[in-house]
Formats: sequence, structure tokens, C-alpha cells
Amino acid sequence: FLSIENVEKSFGKDGRRELVLQDINLRVEEGEFVSLLGPSGCGKSTLLSIVAGLGNPDSGRLQLGGRDIRKPGKERGMVFQEAALFPWLNVEENVMFPLKGSMSRDRMRETARHHLRLVQLSQYGGHHPHELSGGMQQRVSIARALAMDPAVLLMDEPFGALDEQTRMRLQDVLEGIWIETKKTILFVTHSIQEAVRLSDRVIVMGTHPGRILQDIPIRLGRPRNLHAGEMAEYEA
Ligand code: ATP
Ligand code: MG
Repeated sequence: FLSIENVEKSFGKDGRRELVLQDINLRVEEGEFVSLLGPSGCGKSTLLSIVAGLGNPDSGRLQLGGRDIRKPGKERGMVFQEAALFPWLNVEENVMFPLKGSMSRDRMRETARHHLRLVQLSQYGGHHPHELSGGMQQRVSIARALAMDPAVLLMDEPFGALDEQTRMRLQDVLEGIWIETKKTILFVTHSIQEAVRLSDRVIVMGTHPGRILQDIPIRLGRPRNLHAGEMAEYEA
């Protein structure tokens, strides 16, 4: 599980400090899909980057599986709104990139292929990013984050830049991944529909200062051992 305790963060602005996150307490169980929803500026990205270890809180404690976390580590994978792939590498090499040094080249390739299958891009390993649509690029970046086999997948408006149809397609892909990998996912979105569709719980944040207003259970106890088709039936 991921535990965020009493996290506070302020930024200096025009010579004064502004409290951006106040009294953030959140526990995400292993395998849970939790969305963060809230107005622009309420600190969702700040909170996510603190969890990723990209920014330090002023105070508070972060734990994963009972151990303190601070620096970025491979147990937390991050996906941003922009795919940020390396344009000079092909899709497979992009997914292999973070694995460098941790395993043999054959294992790296095998791992990359497995994850490209998960995001339904098996046919595109040899393509370069510019040959793919935005949605496909985002699927590559999800595969790249998953290839490290992180305990938690952190996603900051991953589908925010996509058109509605692509967005819905990627929601399907992500739900399939969540069912198959049983990953813990912390997901930032502006879309209530998206949050409700995908999550076990939705955390609603408010602004000035950013804080948690509500923790809404959506589908607690949803079965996890179903295949995508069965899941659709369960939800119907
Ligand atoms: P959005 O929905 O627009 O992405 P958000 O909820 O992700 O918004 P944050 O990006 O976390 O909000 O920003 C929260 C507040 O912190 C904003 O007021 C922002 O201006 C401020 N902020 C964020 N990063 C920094 C920084 N590096 N330096 C100074 N202020 C910052
Ligand atoms: Mg943001």
C-alpha cells in the first residue's frame, strides 16, 4: 500500500510563501485504482510529483509497502500528459530504455514486447514515435512506465491531450492493464466521468490551499479476477 501522511507543501511566490498542499492524508491499498479530481491549481500534480519523489514535501511522510520513500525509484512509474518519447529511438527501444543495465538485452526486448502487447501495440515496435498518433504514443509511454514493473503507477492527466474517442479507447486499454497487472494506480484527471468509470475511489481536492475534501468510494470490492469481457458484464 501507499501511504501519504500529513503532507504539506508551499512554494515561494512574489516574496511570500503560498501553501499549496495542506494536511494531505491518503492511503491507497495495493491493487487499488484511485483518482484525484479537483480544480486547476489545487495541487494534484504537485502531490503526484511528491509521491514520485520528484519534489520534496515541506513536512509529512510517504511510505510504500511500509517503507519510507523519498527519492525517485523504480517502484513508482510515472506517466504525464505528454508522452515524451525519445524521437530517435523506435517504439521498442523507447520501452527498453529505462531497463538498461538491469537485465540482458534479450530479457529487455522480451519485457518490452510483453508490455507493448499489454497496450495493444505489438505491431508497432519498429516504428518511430512520429509515425504514431498521440494516443498510440501515450500507450507507448504507459508501456515504458510498466516495463519497470513499478508497485505504483502514477498518472498525471495521461489522456488530457487526446480527443474524446481516443480517450475512451485508452480508458479501455488502461482498464485492461489494471485487470491484468493488478497494479496500484493513482490517476489525476479533470474528467469526472473518467474518474468514475475507472476508479475504486475518487479523491476530490479543493483549492487555496490544496487539500482533500472528499474520499468517495465508487466500486469498492469490485472483483479483480475477471477478464475484460467478464468485467464489462459485471459492470452492466
Ligand atoms: P492543473 O489541474 O491545472 O494541472 P494542479 O492541480 O495539477 O493543476 P499544481 O500544478 O500542482 O496544480 O499547482 C498547484 C499550485 O502550486 C499552483 O498555484 C501553482 O501555481 C503552484 N506551483 C506548482 N509548481 C510550482 C513551482 N515549481 N513553483 C511555484 N509554484 C508552483
Ligand atoms: Mg496538474
